[in-house]
Amino acid sequence: MIPRLSPHIPLAGLLDALRPAPTDAVGLFESAFADVAGTRHAIAFPYGRTALMCLLQAMGLEGRQIICPSYTCVVVPHAIEYSGNESVFVDVSEQSFLMDMDLAEQAVNDRTGALVATSLFGEPVNLDRLARFEERYPGVAIIQDCAHSFFCSHNGKPVHKHGVAAIYGLNFSKLLTSVFGGMITTDDDNLAKAIRALRVRTVSVAGMKKEILRRLYYVVALCALNPVMFGLTWRLSRLGILDRFVRYFDEFKIDMPADYLTGMGSFEAMIGIGQLKLYQDIVSHRRIIAGHYNHSLAGAKHITLPPDPEGATYSHYVVRTDDAARYLALALDAGIELGELVDYFVPDLPAYKRHISFGSGIGRRYVGRVVNLPVHRGVDAEVASRVAMIMQQ
Ligand SMILES: *Cc1c(COP(=O)(O)O)cnc(C)c1O
Repeated sequence: MIPRLSPHIPLAGLLDALRPAPTDAVGLFESAFADVAGTRHAIAFPYGRTALMCLLQAMGLEGRQIICPSYTCVVVPHAIEYSGNESVFVDVSEQSFLMDMDLAEQAVNDRTGALVATSLFGEPVNLDRLARFEERYPGVAIIQDCAHSFFCSHNGKPVHKHGVAAIYGLNFSKLLTSVFGGMITTDDDNLAKAIRALRVRTVSVAGMKKEILRRLYYVVALCALNPVMFGLTWRLSRLGILDRFVRYFDEFKIDMPADYLTGMGSFEAMIGIGQLKLYQDIVSHRRIIAGHYNHSLAGAKHITLPPDPEGATYSHYVVRTDDAARYLALALDAGIELGELVDYFVPDLPAYKRHISFGSGIGRRYVGRVVNLPVHRGVDAEVASRVAMIMQQ
């Protein structure tokens, strides 16, 4: 059975769980990440959300409003709240998964400290529009959420270099992984210094226990996502047995994982270094599979394809349907799991009901309707054609 996500690691990568990691692996991973990103600094964290929280604090923002998309991963507002600031939500623009920048301008006031621009699903944000926003509101810092984009570009310009800094998430579902983990990139020396100083004060160094647990998790997750094993994984997850591992939020709570302040471990960094070497392969594979979908689904009747801008990196290939459940069921019959990300509208979650939110709720229409077609290394042209046939039914 084909899973909806799979890290770009062959089964032989399991052997890495037995390899000793260099003691300075985290530093090496940071240097390698900065090289690939083309930035002066890369600073590692245990999660992308911890990275965002610390970034806001290192920027000296406190008690301020931070603008973020209504249609995004819920860990983003969690990090904003944990940083001591308040999230303000801005809806997507018509026919798009990305934040409406005209609405974002309406959300700005004296208390606004920053705007989180998200290249959701790997679709680059419009940097020209963002520059116009900055001209009008020079006091609002731009932070790029590149958890889905990983160095995507807009008109040839790298998105992650536009603004004060960019954050990344590196869990198994992301385009690049370090098992778990997060990263900040920036070209600002003073900000980098402040982030590192804050990290020393707030994030503890990973101990032996974390190193061992991460190795175990890596082995189990890699096996569970292997096509041979995945049928069993899928059945277990349907029974709720895996909820502890796969449920990443509680809609009633603003919270963080128990170990969100325990630093990235050497093992995770070692895996991350290996992934960076594959970066070009990973992105070209995803673009090729996205190309297959674009080609075979062009003109399909009941679905809307994602935009296909140059420079997109396709962390997800997301089509809009009128009923996601129908396609998910059809695909399961054919032995393929489709995804449903993002399947909520953050201002509608009980935890965020009282927060300020701009827009009429266009992003709400995507709940229950979006379907992620797999683009990972387990999908070749033949599987992509099967998926495309399902989506045409
Ligand atoms: C995954 C993700 C993050 C960071 O996630 P962590 O799980 O904290 O590493 C941030 N923003 C978006 C849009 C994401 O999908």
